[in-house]
Amino acid sequence: MKQINISKSVPVVGEYDVVVCGGGPAGFVAAIAAAREGASVALVERFGFLGGMATAGYVAPLSVFTYNQELVIGGIPWEFIHRLVDMGGGYIEHPLGNVAFDPELYKLCMQRMVEEAGIALYMNSYLSGCTTEQGAIRHIVIENKNGSEALAARVFIDCTGDADLAAMAGVPMQPSEEAPLQPLSTYFILGGVDTSSPLVCEAMHHNKQGENCHCLPIREQLVARAEELQIPEFGGPWFCTTLHEGCVAVNMTRTAGNACDNRDYTRAEARLREDVFRMAAILRENFEEFRGCYVAAVAPQAGVRETRRIKGVHTISAEEYVTAHRYEDSVSRGAHPIDIHASKGSSQVTIFLDQPAYVPYRSLIAPAFPNLLVAGRALSADRKAFASLRVQASCMGTGQAAGVAAAQCATRGCAVQDADIEQLIVRLKALGAQI
Ligand SMILES: Cc1cc2nc3c(=O)[nH]c(=O)nc-3n(C[C@H](O)[C@H](O)[C@H](O)COP(=O)(O)OP(=O)(O)OC[C@H]3O[C@@H](n4cnc5c(N)ncnc54)[C@H](O)[C@@H]3O)c2cc1C
Repeated sequence: MKQINISKSVPVVGEYDVVVCGGGPAGFVAAIAAAREGASVALVERFGFLGGMATAGYVAPLSVFTYNQELVIGGIPWEFIHRLVDMGGGYIEHPLGNVAFDPELYKLCMQRMVEEAGIALYMNSYLSGCTTEQGAIRHIVIENKNGSEALAARVFIDCTGDADLAAMAGVPMQPSEEAPLQPLSTYFILGGVDTSSPLVCEAMHHNKQGENCHCLPIREQLVARAEELQIPEFGGPWFCTTLHEGCVAVNMTRTAGNACDNRDYTRAEARLREDVFRMAAILRENFEEFRGCYVAAVAPQAGVRETRRIKGVHTISAEEYVTAHRYEDSVSRGAHPIDIHASKGSSQVTIFLDQPAYVPYRSLIAPAFPNLLVAGRALSADRKAFASLRVQASCMGTGQAAGVAAAQCATRGCAVQDADIEQLIVRLKALGAQI
């Protein structure tokens, strides 16, 4: 392929103790945690709002904060949920601790918490590169309407979901040939649904222990009539309340694809948008409860279940995960079932956990990168353990751990590999982490 060389000088517009890349569930919690520990913090987000998959992908509900009613992901994440509930934007489904929410109030609530923590927010800013010296990241480069800009920090946290910063810095990734990636799915919000009908009412509340919460009566008919109705590839369907009468978030579309390949992701976005309207028509024409439904909104971004994960100092194995192995450096938890969607077709493997699992600090760092932490779905885990840890409460939990660790390492001037684990755990427990 023909190559061109570009060299340019880029202004360093800010210097911080901690820079967090990506303002999704992991990133906004990481930034707040670091700021509350006394660090000066910047948060970089490509969209003009925070929330990641929750608000750009309409992924609902937020799973899962409790296990058998017992809190598993505490501290800043749980504080956020309570603030959201107080604003009328969240509803906790017991006993699972799934949280249904209004995406617009989610954005507002999170933004307020970030502002209150004194974090420098760079929205509409795309992380495009970094400079490194002997493995240490010195600057990140962001692109926005000002042009290219650089930010310096002592410690960086990659919360892009796709391990963008880690990949740019050269961190080795988990093998990608292990199995095809889980599929992409575009969520959409339907209005005009009979949300008081028993079928929708039951399906839109995700509160049943030990059960996949898809809408079985509709699924059975769709499977039986797939050819006759010319139904595109689908999963579920799963419906979730957005807390407004007549409205449900729908998880139903799917296609195989790699969101880290721009052309493949572009193809998937276009295909899934077509499928959204086809699915809405199928529901409208065939199910009484959806007779008056219309597409109120299509998620701004096709939902991404799986892309890159770092090869960390420790890779969490499925065996460790399902046996709830407790590490000396456990800094967070996971309680969601292992949930693997087949790349193609509508099949799904779900393994329910007998007890909540643990996440070690070493899965958030890579061996030769002294000032980089990775939180959220790009952490170091094998395919099965990841398939539980990818959910939003778990991502918030690892974000909280990474934020506190980053602030401590920035203050002590030490490498992330030399973090004081005892101190880290003391602080995390003080915040409310259930470790
Ligand atoms: C179809 C589907 C169904 C799911 N179901 C559930 C469910 O029921 N419950 C649940 O809890 N979870 C569910 N998940 C999983 C969950 O939504 C994600 O795994 C989780 O949001 C990951 O959080 P994160 O913070 O690691 O990344 P993300 O949520 O992806 O956030 C990453 C943030 O980084 C930003 N970013 C990325 N790259 C850049 C860049 N280069 N420059 C600047 N900013 C950047 C993004 O805009 C985003 O804000 C589902 C996911 C999908 C796709």
